[in-house]
Amino acid sequence: MSEIAAEVTDLLQRLIRNGCINDGTPDSGQEIRSTELLADHLHGCGVEMTTFESLPGRASLLARLEGTDPAAPTLMLMGHTDVVPVDPEGWRRDPLGGELVDGVVWGRGAIDMLNLTASMAVATRRLATSGWRPRGTLLFLAVADEEAGGALGAGWLAEHEREAIRADYVITENGGVLQHTAAGERIGVTVGEKGICWCRVKVHGTPGHGSRPLHADNALVKAAEVVTRLSAYPTAAHITEAWRRWVAGMGFEPAIAEALVDPARIWEGLDQLPRGLAGMAHALTHLTASPNVIRGGEKTNVIPGRVDIEVDIRKVPGQTDEDVLEFFDTALGPLRSAVEIEVMQRDDPSESPVDTPLWDAINRAATAVYPEARCIPTLTPGGTDARFFRAMGVPAYGMALYSRAMSLQQFSEMFHANDERVDQESLRLTVELYGAVARDLLS
Ligand SMILES: [Zn+2]
Repeated sequence: MSEIAAEVTDLLQRLIRNGCINDGTPDSGQEIRSTELLADHLHGCGVEMTTFESLPGRASLLARLEGTDPAAPTLMLMGHTDVVPVDPEGWRRDPLGGELVDGVVWGRGAIDMLNLTASMAVATRRLATSGWRPRGTLLFLAVADEEAGGALGAGWLAEHEREAIRADYVITENGGVLQHTAAGERIGVTVGEKGICWCRVKVHGTPGHGSRPLHADNALVKAAEVVTRLSAYPTAAHITEAWRRWVAGMGFEPAIAEALVDPARIWEGLDQLPRGLAGMAHALTHLTASPNVIRGGEKTNVIPGRVDIEVDIRKVPGQTDEDVLEFFDTALGPLRSAVEIEVMQRDDPSESPVDTPLWDAINRAATAVYPEARCIPTLTPGGTDARFFRAMGVPAYGMALYSRAMSLQQFSEMFHANDERVDQESLRLTVELYGAVARDLLS
């Protein structure tokens, strides 16, 4: 096994074992255990390190390898150290054990994204100790709280330490999985993400006796129709530049490719795709609404006067909360006046341009490993810390590099799920990719 693979495997195992589980409460996570581990790993390699604590224990670490030319660009590698909660039931290995079995590291965070955070730290240490004197500055930022929206991590830093985290380019999660398409091998680089608008729909009715339902004003009965209307309403397609480029890069049959970028005909294309891909393609081109929580009713013999529905609504880059309100008006029709809508949590969608020096450096580094492949931009339906940097006008991409053992299907099914795991070759390739991009961009 290569020295790099051994180093990054060991660091990843320790990060997994720290179990910085973020359940959304302010005192969970306790990422300070992993920032201390990472600081130990980088100690003595020549980087300058600063720890920031948004709340006791909610630490983020910034390591800085200063460039010689203040006019040269600054590249930031940003990884989160927290993970989502895990139920060991359903796992084949101990989720916090960090076991290495036949070249594969198992555990919560092995894909999201302790693997990348460990690879970034190892790449930074190796670059710093190699004698390389970069013109531009390299930053490695290990942040807390990504899994609860980043308010105590990247979001906090963007608000309180903007100068310290100033960068020209950012690489974070995720991307970097090889895909086999009709046009050849492709590697997705994440350039944008959807925005959220989580809403509570309060459905009002009039309480009454459950023994006399005729003409009753039952909030639960109305809520059922609200749920049906919200989930069944066909929102119009919204085509972004990244989507066009993704479709062009995937080598679909011309008829499918043309339909997929035409709002009027997109369903002709979606219907031709395999189920999993169709779900992703639909999400990346439409405002989606998924009613996921319902609360209401008191007792079997009481007609309820109030039922709350929580809806997970996601906006495509270019869409705003105005589009969400318009969606409620049209989807609910006459029922709109029977409900109140409260926005519980919101965030804008974001997208970085693709014609940047960072894109070119990533493409060169990835195709040096996979000469037959080509990088294509992708969007993600979920949220990442990249959005804080995009909001500051900084191009931010999600990128790693996985081995041929990792399929896109397997990869996407492991996020926040059971049996999260990564092979050591993918860890080594990711370290090499980050190193190559930094040398390309900052030398
Ligand atoms: Zn993540």
